[in-house]
Amino acid sequence: MTRTGPDVAAPPLPSLEGLTAQFYEHCRREELSFQRCSGCDRWRHVPRLACARCGSDAWSWQRSSGRGVVFSHTVIHRALHPGFDEAVPFVCAVVEMDEGVRMVARMVGVVADGTAMLADAAVEVVYVHVADDVVLPAFRLPAAEVRGDGRR
Ligand SMILES: [Zn+2]
Repeated sequence: MTRTGPDVAAPPLPSLEGLTAQFYEHCRREELSFQRCSGCDRWRHVPRLACARCGSDAWSWQRSSGRGVVFSHTVIHRALHPGFDEAVPFVCAVVEMDEGVRMVARMVGVVADGTAMLADAAVEVVYVHVADDVVLPAFRLPAAEVRGDGRR
C-alpha cells in the first residue's frame, strides 16, 4: 500500500479546540487539571459545559494530584494507525484519579508482555511531549514501586 502526505505516519493528535484545548493547555505546562463543578464540587472529565450531576454550568479548572489507581488496562499488540507501528506493544489504562474522575492514557515504563498485573496499582502522571505544542498525560508506577526491570 502506498501512503501519501507528509503526516500520514504521524500519530494522531488531539483536536485543540474549545474545552479540549484548555485541558491540553494545562498539560502543555505539565499540569493535570480537571473541571470542578461550582454547584456540587464534583470533579469531571472529559471536559464539558455543564455538570451531569447537578446541571450547573458554573465550574473552574482545578489541578489534580496527578495520582490515581489503575481501574482497568489492556495491552495494545496491533497498531490500528500507522503512527503507532513502532510503539506496539504498549499498555493503555483507565486510571481512577484521586479526585474521582477516570481517564484513559498510556502507561509508560511498564513491560507490555501481557502478564503485568496492574489492576488497582497506584500510578502517577507523567508528561509525554509528542509535538511542539502538544503534551499528552501518561501514567507510570511510582518510582519507589518499580524494580530495576521495570516490573512491580
Ligand atoms: Zn454539579
